[in-house]
Amino acid sequence: MPETAWEDLTRRMADLRALGGAAAVLAWDQETYLPRRGSEARGEQLAALQGVLHERLCDPRLGDALARLEGALGPAGDPGDPADPTGERRAAARALRFDRERAVRIPGELVRGLALAQSAGVEAWREAREQSRFARFAPALASLVRLRREMADALGVPAGGERYDALLDGYEEGMRVSRLAPLFRRLTGWLTPLVDRLAAAPPPDDSFLRGRFDAEAQWAFTLELLEAVGFDGEAGRQDRSAHPFTQGIDPGDVRLTTRVLEALPLSSIFSTLHEAGHGLYEQGLPRRWRSSVLGAAPSMGLHESQSRLWENLVGRSLPFWKAFLPRLAARFPQLGGVTPERFHRAVNKVERSLIRVEADEVTYNLHVVLRFELELSLLRGELEPDDLPGAWNERSQAILGLTPPSDAEGCLQDIHWAWGEFGYFPTYALGNLYAASLHAAARRALPGLDGELEAGRLAPLLGWLRQHVHAAGRTLPAEEVVRRATGAGLDDADFRRYLTEKYQGLAGRG
Ligand code: ZN
Repeated sequence: MPETAWEDLTRRMADLRALGGAAAVLAWDQETYLPRRGSEARGEQLAALQGVLHERLCDPRLGDALARLEGALGPAGDPGDPADPTGERRAAARALRFDRERAVRIPGELVRGLALAQSAGVEAWREAREQSRFARFAPALASLVRLRREMADALGVPAGGERYDALLDGYEEGMRVSRLAPLFRRLTGWLTPLVDRLAAAPPPDDSFLRGRFDAEAQWAFTLELLEAVGFDGEAGRQDRSAHPFTQGIDPGDVRLTTRVLEALPLSSIFSTLHEAGHGLYEQGLPRRWRSSVLGAAPSMGLHESQSRLWENLVGRSLPFWKAFLPRLAARFPQLGGVTPERFHRAVNKVERSLIRVEADEVTYNLHVVLRFELELSLLRGELEPDDLPGAWNERSQAILGLTPPSDAEGCLQDIHWAWGEFGYFPTYALGNLYAASLHAAARRALPGLDGELEAGRLAPLLGWLRQHVHAAGRTLPAEEVVRRATGAGLDDADFRRYLTEKYQGLAGRG
């Protein structure tokens, strides 16, 4: 019997997933255990695999099978309707079509040019940052901006949109500047006075977090946390890296990394909780889709919502520390006299800061707004790459109330632009907003949630996320997943309510 279009596609998707998984293992190893002298070969291995993946995705036979399947399925119904037996195939066809269109539209020459510019960009950026000398990075940035503009044109600017939208689509499908810009204006409008007020108040006492915190004891505590949140140690592992990240290979193989610093004990705790949030999502993707395009998150913003939810909504809450401070203090006797209330205050300190990755929950989104404005201007050609440091400093003063003393602490602090990743930063802010909305919905659905948390029981929350977020895989757009889980789409109202109530509570306790 001849193979049907669906069987053909199923086989091709499984190959794509297997190749992608192999590349993911190599990338994880590159950041964890790869010997220094292996890095050249690793670059070649990854480039070769990416080349094969690209070829397979662009294969005309895949295109034919996809067209045949789409023809057989007929006009689209509701892709998330479980009663529609073709819903799953329809969703897979839609996701595959999206990935394939993006892949085939970019000429091979541009792919290679971009890969070279990225390698050169990262190298130049590292040196520039070390020496805090922007001029070293400027030419690389200029070519990355030029190539990404070309890429946006090749991908095609969405109707009524602009180049930036074509890039944004690769991280947050369907999101547009025309929605982000007013959303970010509204966010800034209420965040700025909140930061002004909170940063002016006397800072909480966090003196007990100074001193030396044994690295092995910190490591052991992070493993305890992973177990408590429900991370399956038989389906993943944690290792150390300079910059924490998560690499999902399969729901049965999820790699997390964390960073342990003896002088900064909160770093390992919150980076483990953050990456655990990503990891729980990856482990929670339905196993029946492990070889399908549907076994993935629909967007980076939704992925980030899971990490921020565990890191902040859970990890910076009072009930959480009522449960976990005694366990932490058992490993660090210097915390013996600290109450959960004092600890909670210390981990929620708000201050104006220069570095995004160290920013508190209140100022964090302002760091994103700063980057969004600048990268949008770069893509639009309103800002010349050479003029970035001046523009950064000026906007940083206006948005964050601070001017960095050096470019290393300013426009050179993040690696994203060295990769030519324009359009990625907004997904961090979307993650924060989605996290607050999802958490609010989980609390409405599970009224005893705070009590469970206080008792150290995190399974009910994870169960809710599994059912309402993880189980959807990539069948629906991110905003639709959130809408079905919470009753509303992308909005800052829950995030605003969450921060307002939290900091009122903190102030009220004096
Ligand atoms: Zn993250």
